[in-house]
Amino acid sequence: MSCGFDLEHYRELLAAAEVGGYRFAHFADAPTEGTVILRHDVDISLDAAVRMAELEHEAGVSSTYFLMTESVFYNLDSREGAAAMERLPALGHRLALHAVYPNAALVPDFDPLVSWHNPDPEFLQAPLADGRLNVMQGLWFDSATYRSDSNQRWRFGCPRDDLRAGAFPWLQLLTHPEIWVYPGKTMGQTMRAMLEAEKARRLQQLADDRIDVS
Ligand SMILES: [Zn+2]
Repeated sequence: MSCGFDLEHYRELLAAAEVGGYRFAHFADAPTEGTVILRHDVDISLDAAVRMAELEHEAGVSSTYFLMTESVFYNLDSREGAAAMERLPALGHRLALHAVYPNAALVPDFDPLVSWHNPDPEFLQAPLADGRLNVMQGLWFDSATYRSDSNQRWRFGCPRDDLRAGAFPWLQLLTHPEIWVYPGKTMGQTMRAMLEAEKARRLQQLADDRIDVS
């Protein structure tokens, strides 16, 4: 199977990790040999996050969802936000903060972890003053044990084959749910597909808000 960005291939990545003998871990402890830490930065879509979380749950896998309190695309204080914050842990996953520098809100029930949204090199790996873990700091980040799907491009290639071969000592795997849930061969196509789905959702929200959209 080719290395696309869809849920079927994401499931393949999880299966490859199992074949490679990896265990799935979280950020609480320093990374150890033979583990894969699944990280999701939720930049755009809570819907996509929940769909990915359901797939992981079916695969018996637990990951950490980094949610934004300052997103222009979703609102954790809305009913939809509250539902996602209930659903993700119910599926066995952890929640943490995806923050816009320099703000890093303290959110009850989130793990004491921060991932920065679009980080600049100056603070990318800097420890936080309040003791929460920057997931890119120190032992948690090494380019040899890190893969990210940013902008629907693997900078060092899709990790499937190396996972299957057990070639990583351990791996922090960052994926953005909306890239995998919405179809498209490029980030531009995928975002346009996301916007189409969003339009239908927005119309429903308007109707729910007693706006006459007939
Ligand atoms: Zn982000």
